[in-house]
Amino acid sequence: MLREDLFKNLTAHCKEYGFIFPSSELYDGLAAVYDYGQNGVELKLNIRQYWWEAMTRLHQNIVGLDSAIFMHPKIWEASGHLSAFNDPLIDNKDSKKRYRADVLVEDWIAKQEEKLEKEVGKAAKRFGEAFDRAQFVHTNARALELQQSIDSTRTRLANLLTGNDLAGLKQLIEELEIVCPISGTRNWTDVRQFNLMFATRLGSVSEEANEIYLRPETAQGIFVNFLNVQKTGRMRIPFGIAQVGKAFRNEIVARQFTFRMREFEQMEMQYFVAPGSEMEWFEYWKEARLQWHLALGLGQENYRYHPHDKLAHYANAAVDIEFNFPFGFKEVEGIHSRTDFDLSNHARVSGRKVQYFDADRNESYTPYVVETSIGLDRTILMVLSACYDEEHLASDDGKEDIRKVLHLPPALAPVKVAILPLVRKDGMPERAEAILHDLRLRTACHYEEKDTVGKRYRRQDAIGTPYCVTVDTQTLEDGTVTLRERDSMQQQRIPAERIYEAIAPTTELNSLLKKL
Ligand code: ATP
Repeated sequence: MLREDLFKNLTAHCKEYGFIFPSSELYDGLAAVYDYGQNGVELKLNIRQYWWEAMTRLHQNIVGLDSAIFMHPKIWEASGHLSAFNDPLIDNKDSKKRYRADVLVEDWIAKQEEKLEKEVGKAAKRFGEAFDRAQFVHTNARALELQQSIDSTRTRLANLLTGNDLAGLKQLIEELEIVCPISGTRNWTDVRQFNLMFATRLGSVSEEANEIYLRPETAQGIFVNFLNVQKTGRMRIPFGIAQVGKAFRNEIVARQFTFRMREFEQMEMQYFVAPGSEMEWFEYWKEARLQWHLALGLGQENYRYHPHDKLAHYANAAVDIEFNFPFGFKEVEGIHSRTDFDLSNHARVSGRKVQYFDADRNESYTPYVVETSIGLDRTILMVLSACYDEEHLASDDGKEDIRKVLHLPPALAPVKVAILPLVRKDGMPERAEAILHDLRLRTACHYEEKDTVGKRYRRQDAIGTPYCVTVDTQTLEDGTVTLRERDSMQQQRIPAERIYEAIAPTTELNSLLKKL
């Protein structure tokens, strides 16, 4: 199946099976805002928990925080968000559609990369085993031309963004002859800066009310609590503060389902280190975070690092972990070395001392920060898009049978085990309910008795339930049940009291944490 079709089907699947709904659907929705349904919320909880435990339980020197969304407006002055949290936007005058100017250029680069890969693919077929990619790209005229235009455009874009050169950005779009995908024309407005923060007012009397902002990242709540946590927790550097919470960005172009939302959740960890040791910790967290992803088993080949061409206003090193989404490799997480930018700016703007006394060095300094920042919603989309599958099975009557299945890592699945009486009589429901009563204290269960057992299996496959337990006549005789595994569809008979033992090794969160 085409990846585009797969993505369309996944979006429909998310709605049909209670994972993700468009927000305010009764009122035709609200752009780039989504709600999580009964299964989505469980998946979200499990991913959040996996991240939280990996950070706080597995690291004795990382503690949690839950700071408020509303914060003093001066915080955004100190953090640089008021002046620098902008995206360059451009409108097409014919379609009246708005775009991020940098994304238009990036999409153009991605197209050139596709063309290059086509050339490489053709040559690889032609040359067979003797094919040397690097040599081909260096010697073949067409490939060389494509590679050079990709490299030079990328460098030019990075320089224009760093230099805030909006006129230059427009010129680049014109030179590359980029057209609006809707109107097909090159009738562009000038490029303008657009601040991504949502403003609102705090206070009941409008004249007295202060303009405040919905936080565009959770990190600042951690920075302004640095001293509180360090002092009350008697934390010694290096140490980290982890937080999960909502962030809000008025994204210019919101598309690709939950990939880019205007209200979303971030899982961020700020690691405070001694100045000069930040690159070592940057490397450490780069590795550790990739390992967290790999433990999910979504395929090593689906990940890559992408070092930043343009560093954010606060960073001295930055890398993205990109995942191979159905629409290509895109950022799911960022690891940034933020220097002492945030803490020293909060000290400057607040007029307070924000420093740490290092007993080993016998000196006070402003700590440096290495942060890991991952979008919870984007991680959910990553997991769902990697796990959604439409299997073509041969059915008994020779007709094609499509099994929609989510091959979720069992520890993340909303339901770990479904308990199904084979039929709704002969004491089977009662026996199945007794099993449920015992098991639900240990794991997430679902009980269902409607429809044939085959149909019930399929419904559980569709929401990614790794195990189904069926209670049948034999259960009433010898106390055994059938345990069906989602991916292999294999069934085995086990004593009812051994169900938890059989499923725990894969369904417990510890099965993931052990791999870290
Ligand atoms: P992008 O380049 O995609 O806009 P970013 O570099 O601005 O992302 P960061 O500020 O580094 O993103 O935010 C950290 C993480 O938060 C991202 O890796 C992503 O997973 C998530 N994130 C950022 N913006 C959004 C959004 N609009 N919707 C969903 N998740 C987001």
